[in-house]
Amino acid sequence: MSTETSSFDAVSHYFDVAADRLGIAEGLQSVVRTAEREVQVQIPIRLADKEMHVFTGYRVQHNSARGPYKGGIRYHPHVSLDQVRALAALMTWKTAIVDVPFGGAKGGVDCPAQDFTEDELELVTRAFVDKIGDVLGPSRDIPAPDVNTNAQVMAWIMDEYGKLHGDNPAVVTGKPVSLGGTLGREAATGRGVVHAYSEAARALHLQAGATRVAIQGFGNVGSWAARIMARLGCRIVAVSNTSGAIHSGTGIDPASLLRHLAGGGTLVEYPDAGRASDTEAIPPEELIALDCEVLIPAALGGALHAANASSVRARMVVEGANNPTTPEADEILNENGVLVIPDVLANAGGVIVSYFEWAQNLQHFGWDEREVNDRLAKRMRRAYSEVQERAQANRVSMRVAAYELGIERVVEAGRLRRHRGYV
Ligand code: NAD
Repeated sequence: MSTETSSFDAVSHYFDVAADRLGIAEGLQSVVRTAEREVQVQIPIRLADKEMHVFTGYRVQHNSARGPYKGGIRYHPHVSLDQVRALAALMTWKTAIVDVPFGGAKGGVDCPAQDFTEDELELVTRAFVDKIGDVLGPSRDIPAPDVNTNAQVMAWIMDEYGKLHGDNPAVVTGKPVSLGGTLGREAATGRGVVHAYSEAARALHLQAGATRVAIQGFGNVGSWAARIMARLGCRIVAVSNTSGAIHSGTGIDPASLLRHLAGGGTLVEYPDAGRASDTEAIPPEELIALDCEVLIPAALGGALHAANASSVRARMVVEGANNPTTPEADEILNENGVLVIPDVLANAGGVIVSYFEWAQNLQHFGWDEREVNDRLAKRMRRAYSEVQERAQANRVSMRVAAYELGIERVVEAGRLRRHRGYV
């Protein structure tokens, strides 16, 4: 997997193509491309090794024309300002494309969270919120989970923010259900990925029973997409995570794999030695090139790049991860007739249900899971068909159509508010 050092260039490239097509003047393009605020803070922490470690935390608030800033918080050693900037901009287009009343933001800390103890995770989280708490708020900026952050981390964010500004569950989404989280949020991004697949499959006349799926990344997004697709009747033929990749022609049972991982096993040890199975470990880079119908990148950015895109044999790529495809790879996939459902549409299920969580918090009233899932399905289908119609009418890719739709809505909101730079 390539690094994400030029993530913002990739997102800017997609923005430029769509903004030029929309005929947006260069001055306004600069206003909309650039983040409204970037906060960078020092996080000094004494870890369990008794040494002092200094991490850097970021919160980039990209655009607020359509509502409060919204976006996840990532803990990973490769987190950088460039990467967070790119992810924040993606959130601006995503919230606009699926028409939820938020702007776009993203945050992160450049720490090796996967090696942290629970106590260390809590220390870093509370220290980060102490530093950025002033720019957060239920009507200012609302964080959510991303890579290596989960409901527990969101609970610490809510609690620490509450100490500074008064308790308010609507300041963060993806919380534990017992602390004001919503039913259905944990699975929402993966579920949305599956809605994107289902809509695309209908257009390609592809039945679930004839769909073989390869998934890179088996965390929140990848594992939920795998479970829901398996329930639909799709065959999960390959899965990978940081420990390696596995392949099975007859199909991997995601629920059983999750039990194996929860019991402390590694992915490449699955299934337990001695069990009859055709599951085998494969080099992780082979997953991209497998003979299958659907490829779901659900790990980090830059997974599909100039050097591996032409090896993709899937009929469609559903971008569960953010920014997984470089512009060069995007061009190759388009030329090769691979249907790419872009991140800003495919993984929007998380922010849609985050919106439902925020709305429930503001009303002090909880919905049942059925209602959450039904509303998610409706919004994903509507956004998909709006993007597809535009793509067909303008003879452009789903990504260009999605960006056009998102940019148009943001510019309209900025103009209506008469925000500086829009008029
Ligand atoms: P996660 O931390 O739960 O899971 C990440 C997974 O990717 C893990 O299984 C990890 O082992 C694997 N991984 C990391 N590097 C890898 C590599 N080089 N090769 C193969 N696997 C690798 O994170 P997540 O929340 O599932 O997020 C995954 C992606 O989806 C990210 O790009 C994130 O921005 C995006 N996303 C997440 C959400 C959400 O609601 N969680 C919403 C929208 C988009």
